[in-house]
Amino acid sequence: MLLDILNPAPLPPDAERRLHEKHEARMSQLAAAMAPMLGIWVLLFVVWDYFVDSAHVLWTLPVRISFVALSALGYRPGILPLSPSGRCVYVHWMFSAAIILSEFLLEDGFRYGLVGVVAGVFFVALIAQSAASFLLAVSAPFALFLICAALVRPLPELANDVVFYLLAMGIAYALMSMIRFLRHSEARLEEELLRQATHDSLTGLYNRGRLNELAAREMALARRHRRPLAVLMLDIDRFKLVNDTYGHDVGDRVIRRLADACRAQMREIDHVGRFGGEEFVCILPETGREAALACAERLRTVIEAQRVDSARGEVRFTVSIGVALYDEAHAGWEELLKDADAALYRAKEEGRNRVVLAGAPAQAALRAG
Ligand code: GH3
Ligand code: MG
Ligand code: MG
Repeated sequence: MLLDILNPAPLPPDAERRLHEKHEARMSQLAAAMAPMLGIWVLLFVVWDYFVDSAHVLWTLPVRISFVALSALGYRPGILPLSPSGRCVYVHWMFSAAIILSEFLLEDGFRYGLVGVVAGVFFVALIAQSAASFLLAVSAPFALFLICAALVRPLPELANDVVFYLLAMGIAYALMSMIRFLRHSEARLEEELLRQATHDSLTGLYNRGRLNELAAREMALARRHRRPLAVLMLDIDRFKLVNDTYGHDVGDRVIRRLADACRAQMREIDHVGRFGGEEFVCILPETGREAALACAERLRTVIEAQRVDSARGEVRFTVSIGVALYDEAHAGWEELLKDADAALYRAKEEGRNRVVLAGAPAQAALRAG
């Protein structure tokens, strides 16, 4: 568990990207909303300077004002060429410089103000997401502290200060690790919920909702770039008979086997989903008439060759496939799908276990011709 917290297993690349984007969005909010507030706080501490050493407060005031003014360059995007988390690190450095240099200028400043100097490292627990970014964020303030404290603190007290600072950094690092662990757990949960919302639980293929979204996007691309797009609609033949003869569990295995066969046959750019009970839809971008028919026929023969074991012997099954090709006349996905469905209906009518292209003459008519 401790190792998991200190060194969490990497997330899938998509989840990692989403988590990173979310973190950067949070850092952007932090820089815009919290940094100005903390800047005012850093300025107000000049009152404390006055109580510690009223003789040098006129030195610390311009230091505090200058560094808080410089920190303002990081509050909003576009001024510094940095990411939101980079801006937060920059702001942290400016505030730390204001505080460390003020303590340096005050008589016995580090003795009384060490807690204020060290408090800054706890903000790094929020900003950093890795050991490298943590070290980067704490390095410059720590180096500045070492230089300034070495100039004014006797050696035993300097050693005491450094140990205190390092212990605080250790706690801040543990905090960062815990925050990162919680964010990773949250990201994994989100990933799982997203998967459940977009995938079919029996087959792992896309569900109808996700397939509709992907189809709308592919159609828009096909329309804009005038590229071909094909849709296959598959339905298992006489599936009720499979269920009735072998049982529902064997029916489920047939559905899963069909899904695996579809997945294996499709290219990376294709999308396959379970549309209903034993109905499947494949979206084939960049696919014209010949390639779509060849793909459908290949799928049909591969499925025909499948065998699923059952207590009552091997189960064979076939599919009928309706193929529709996108053209400009299709107003939307619904229309294209309707064509594929009509072709599927004809494939059933013409005897099942076959591929029918939407709009093509019926096989009987072809034979008669
Ligand atoms: P056709 O050749 O005309 O398609 O005949 P069919 O028997 O396949 O047609 P129909 O659509 O009437 O039957 C579909 C059957 O699929 C009915 C339903 O019980 C079954 N089914 C739907 N979803 C599932 C499922 O998740 N698992 C199992 N085992 N069966 C399912
Ligand atoms: Mg059906
Ligand atoms: Mg069926």
